[in-house]
Amino acid sequence: MKEFDYIIIGGGCAGLSLAYELEINEKLKDKTLAIIEPRLQYKKDKTWSFWKVASHNFDDCIKKSWENFTVNIPKKTKHIKCESYPYQSVDSGLFYEKINKRLKENKNISFFKNINEIDSKNSFIFNSVPSIKKDHRNIWQHFCGVEIETQNNFFDDEIFNLMDFDCEQRESVHFFYTLPYSKTTALVETTWLSRMNDSSKKDYDAQIKDYIENHLNLKNYKITYKEEGAIPLFYPLYEIEKNKINIGTAGGMTRLSTGYTFLNIQEHSRYICNNIDNISKTKKFEIAKKYQFLDDVFLRVLEKHPEKMPDIFFKMFKSSPKAVIKFLSNKSNFFEDLSIIFKMPKITFIKALFY
Ligand SMILES: Cc1cc2nc3c(=O)[nH]c(=O)nc-3n(C[C@H](O)[C@H](O)[C@H](O)COP(=O)(O)OP(=O)(O)OC[C@H]3O[C@@H](n4cnc5c(N)ncnc54)[C@H](O)[C@@H]3O)c2cc1C
Repeated sequence: MKEFDYIIIGGGCAGLSLAYELEINEKLKDKTLAIIEPRLQYKKDKTWSFWKVASHNFDDCIKKSWENFTVNIPKKTKHIKCESYPYQSVDSGLFYEKINKRLKENKNISFFKNINEIDSKNSFIFNSVPSIKKDHRNIWQHFCGVEIETQNNFFDDEIFNLMDFDCEQRESVHFFYTLPYSKTTALVETTWLSRMNDSSKKDYDAQIKDYIENHLNLKNYKITYKEEGAIPLFYPLYEIEKNKINIGTAGGMTRLSTGYTFLNIQEHSRYICNNIDNISKTKKFEIAKKYQFLDDVFLRVLEKHPEKMPDIFFKMFKSSPKAVIKFLSNKSNFFEDLSIIFKMPKITFIKALFY
């Protein structure tokens, strides 16, 4: 069986981002790479959105970028400008196509469906398949989104809605998210932060229909695409092994308070690429410890007081937009952290330290 210098397990966002980073930086000119990916074909299955707080390789896969957004709680709307850090949506279909086209040009890169097809004992492995122990107490961000099309102009495509909490909460945390790609097309998503075994929240189609028709007041539309998913708001198991690094969700690249992962994956890929010649001795890459700590406290509050979360999110956005965006994208400095922390209900958060 054939041996490879590197193996990437999982050719999804993290696996392909890393392979692309290595390829464009000429790290695979005299090294071999096997990518293990079971899917039979690549098609658009996700929309990755984030504030562009750092550069990345996929500007040509951006479906739309915005410089204004709103956050809503019942009877209150906050309008926020984000021209310094535009919010971008990457189309996964364009991302897969761009990367796979480039990787196929390099004969040192091979694709397999199963790791048993190759000899992996002497390779360095980058694993993006998370190992998740079933635990009913774990909190997930689970959601379903549809892209819709209207016949007449309906949306204001200059501004998107990040969180609309003006909807039923069912003793949990629930919001809608609307990304208008044009005046006639938008992604509308229902998002829950809750325990996964709670199937009572999964009547997604009915929730979305009700929101579009009775909240957005849009009656004539058609659904052109649907995506569904769940992001663990806890770190998957990560056993430290020689010659193996976890990447992507499996590697702890998700920001636990928000689910944002895409830009962290890009930063991790750059880090690995810069250290590839000495990778087995390279320090583990992590989201900064201060965010791990603050997100832990935040999720404790969320579990204990879901009813307070719409107000907490709304209050957070009363800080300077730059500070909030940098904080949520793990790029904030000490003073920006403090400005966010001071907006939080102090007693609730201090108590959460002792739950
Ligand atoms: C629907 C959805 C929308 C999201 N939207 C956003 C967003 O807007 N912004 C953001 O920052 N993050 C978002 N995320 C979170 C995160 O960015 C994505 O989950 C991202 O795809 C994570 O990348 P990954 O490589 O870790 O996992 P994946 O992209 O899921 O890649 C894992 C790959 O492993 C393959 N695989 C599975 N089993 C095996 C096996 N046994 N052997 C080999 N390969 C295997 C899978 O087929 C898949 O291709 C979203 C997640 C989902 C699910």
